[in-house]
Amino acid sequence: MKRIAPPSSALGPLLCGLLAAAPALGAATARQPGDPPITIDTHVDIPFTYMREPRFDVGKATPLKVDLGKMERGGLDAAFFVIWVPQGPLTPAGYARALGQAEGKYESIGRMLMLYPDRIRLATTPAQALANRRAGLLSAMIGIENSYSLGHDLHRLDAAYDRGARYVGLVHVGDNDLCTSSLPDTKHGEPAMNSAGDKGMSAFGRQVVERANRLGMMVDVSHASDQCVRDALKYSKAPIIASHSGARAVLDHPRNLPDDLLRAIAAKGGVVQAVAYKEFLKHDPGREAAEKKLQDAVAKANGDAKYDSDKDDYLPAMVQGMAEIEKRYPLATLDDYVKQIRHMVQVAGIDHVGIASDFDGGGGITGWNDASETRNVTAALRRAGFSDADIARIWGGNLLRVWREVEHDARH
Ligand SMILES: [Zn+2]
Repeated sequence: MKRIAPPSSALGPLLCGLLAAAPALGAATARQPGDPPITIDTHVDIPFTYMREPRFDVGKATPLKVDLGKMERGGLDAAFFVIWVPQGPLTPAGYARALGQAEGKYESIGRMLMLYPDRIRLATTPAQALANRRAGLLSAMIGIENSYSLGHDLHRLDAAYDRGARYVGLVHVGDNDLCTSSLPDTKHGEPAMNSAGDKGMSAFGRQVVERANRLGMMVDVSHASDQCVRDALKYSKAPIIASHSGARAVLDHPRNLPDDLLRAIAAKGGVVQAVAYKEFLKHDPGREAAEKKLQDAVAKANGDAKYDSDKDDYLPAMVQGMAEIEKRYPLATLDDYVKQIRHMVQVAGIDHVGIASDFDGGGGITGWNDASETRNVTAALRRAGFSDADIARIWGGNLLRVWREVEHDARH
């Protein structure tokens, strides 16, 4: 089905005017020798109070791992900012809450774009991301993480596309009405991944995949169960992506993809974006237990029953506690990360692997622990023997190819 793309200004009339203005030169994002043509991070989280609380005003210095200054200094040209909502009950009240949370995040991204048009612009096409790069501007792209926020209403996918979302992540932690999760809520009776009860994708999930194909939105299978990935490969006419996933053969974690699925995503022309997330790169139960203990203690000190990453992660007690934990249980390193990338390239091919940080959603490793350290990734890939051409593919060329193909398939 043919569909005419809306203008990129879907975030609001004011933004429309700003985007139409001639691009100003962003001197801060000047290219350095050895930089790839474009660096794209396909998964950056944002707090619910992003651009609302002064500490999360990304035009200034922030405690976040990604703000505009860190992107500019580190040479991170473009990021998919993620509309994430936690999984809740599949009830009208649950859907309404998720919808409101998603709405707040779209508005936050819109606020960033309105306030800093001389530094960052929305990109809803690969061509726009590249044009922003040429103009010395950062690019913000938008991805959905957990289609629970669609509220079981296909029209909301169209609305998300109109607001600029260009990938749709089907599920998060816990099963939803689209498909089973790689981390189902087994404590509340959801079947374990790959058990007899694991049903994979639902009829609604299939509708979302087919609608995404027609809109020209990439289908993202990170967090999905293995069966759901297989179903997405079966039902999607266009290539699919995993916006932030690793290799299970290197580190056995349900969030990492097994080799057969890495191969299958590649065979369909897609891309898997290797993620710099500690627990998918290094098994460290001591660290996990220490972090859990710290989270519980910080929440309790605030009078809360449960740890809330948005509220607690940037408090001094948490920052100090994490520094102590880091001394005892060091994070995964760039070497661990490159090891996974090398394996993924061996299995899926150099045209089917990319980069994702999951910054501000738990991501970050020694050597790439915020956006200002982005050039360390490029240097580590070069040390590992990847050529400049390979690095250009991994850092964005592959993702842009898939994105273009998904756009093309939507028109034909
Ligand atoms: Zn995630």
